Amino acid sequence: MHVLFVTSEAFPLIKTGGLADVSGALPKAIKSAASFNGDIKVLLPAYRGVLSKLTAVKEVASIEALKHSCTLFSGYLPDSDVEVIAIKNDVLYDRAGGPYTDESGADWNDNALRFGVLSRVASLLSKQDSPLNWQPDIVHCNDWQTGLTPTYMKLVDQVPVKSIFSIHNMAYQGNFDVNVISQLELPAQHFNMNGFEFYQQLSFMKAGLFYADQLSSVSPTYAKEIQTVHYGFGLQGLLKTRAEQLTGILNGIDTQDWNPATDSHLIKPYSDKNITGKKAVKKALQQQLGLSINPDAPLLGVVSRFAYQKGLDLLPPIIPKLVADGCQLAILGSGEKALEDGFVALQKQFPNNISITVGYNEPMSHNIMAGADLFIMPSRFEPCGLNQLYGLTYGTPPIVSATGGLADSVRDTTPETIKNNTATGFVLKNVTNASLLGTIQSAVKLWRDKQVWRKIQKNGMQTDVSWSSSANLYLDLYEKTLSQ
Ligand code: ADP
Repeated sequence: MHVLFVTSEAFPLIKTGGLADVSGALPKAIKSAASFNGDIKVLLPAYRGVLSKLTAVKEVASIEALKHSCTLFSGYLPDSDVEVIAIKNDVLYDRAGGPYTDESGADWNDNALRFGVLSRVASLLSKQDSPLNWQPDIVHCNDWQTGLTPTYMKLVDQVPVKSIFSIHNMAYQGNFDVNVISQLELPAQHFNMNGFEFYQQLSFMKAGLFYADQLSSVSPTYAKEIQTVHYGFGLQGLLKTRAEQLTGILNGIDTQDWNPATDSHLIKPYSDKNITGKKAVKKALQQQLGLSINPDAPLLGVVSRFAYQKGLDLLPPIIPKLVADGCQLAILGSGEKALEDGFVALQKQFPNNISITVGYNEPMSHNIMAGADLFIMPSRFEPCGLNQLYGLTYGTPPIVSATGGLADSVRDTTPETIKNNTATGFVLKNVTNASLLGTIQSAVKLWRDKQVWRKIQKNGMQTDVSWSSSANLYLDLYEKTLSQ
């Protein structure tokens, strides 16, 4: 079985969120699955700096897509045998800023073309005359940036190769003005409801959902939720008609990168057998962030994009109360300016208790995950979420809302789940300030009961959240798609 895994980001080459973690880890897990007999290649754009992070890089082909000449480079993900094909076109991809936005955070105005080219190249590589001299049996597309791939494969190149489209977040759809259709060389007669039109716009996401042979999303609960008005962002009807082809598979984590026993970002490693190192990490974190160094202050961690989805706007109004209760907060993230400014103001007001680091910082994200006592994730919707999985693994029980992958991965703490050793975290009754405050307060109360807390930590740390079982579910999906 040959798989072409198409994505717009992959850790550690380029990352803005969970999609990168999945794209960096799932292909590795598939490749090492005992039942996988084949080959998987990851395709992504060569943004600035990507080629230098690959190992054994070499130029392998050139290809023209949407009137743009591209050079294809082959290399390997660091410390892995997974091959990456990077599409080099400096006009499109060699820029300062992020993969989707410029340095000020504004979307690149040619994103339709940039990801149209990615989608087009993926389709061309699935043809029999592919310049790689290698043809996939399955093209596995991820999120809107790759959404046109199945369209090109079906309508333009008419290749008999199967495609899967995985939804990592319905909220980002890649909807563009209709005038990009000719630049993207799409057959205009399919710009209608039964094609790639979404309310008079070209939608990359809709195209993926409509033309892919199979669909998947990143947790079983989210796969159901997106078929409803509340979570479907207007595409719930289409998803409902395709429910038979829609599978929910929970993400795993890369245990090479996220393991407290081997994590090189931490001052001291620790494990579920010997957790004492966690205290040293907490102390170092308090010191680094300018918080008062106090092992008895419950330290709450947040690492997140600041977007409405994440529900972090629930925090500022309850922070004075949390501080009065003696809690500390270590927050890392960026996004909505009002929220960034709000946290900065609270840090000024409560410098011993509140720390906010605005920006992206991989080592600090590991240290917050390990040094915090609790991890806060009150998302309004969460396709899967990875941070709560990291929290479980790092003995930092997550406080989550009951949605998507959070509902599928965190077991609420109740007298019963404490007793039968299944409690792993805390689930909000409602996504409100009051519910968040009340849940944090009950969790902190339990945290002070060291015996019960060790149990909850242990339950989480011993939960298998690695990719191994989910990789097998993807392989089942690949088999099912091939046998269609
Ligand atoms: P999403 O993909 O919606 O942003 P996930 O929980 O699925 O949320 O994945 C987020 C990933 O990005 C995690 O690996 C998290 O640690 C990381 N992350 C988010 N914000 C930051 C940040 N400011 N610095 C470092 N890592 C971050």
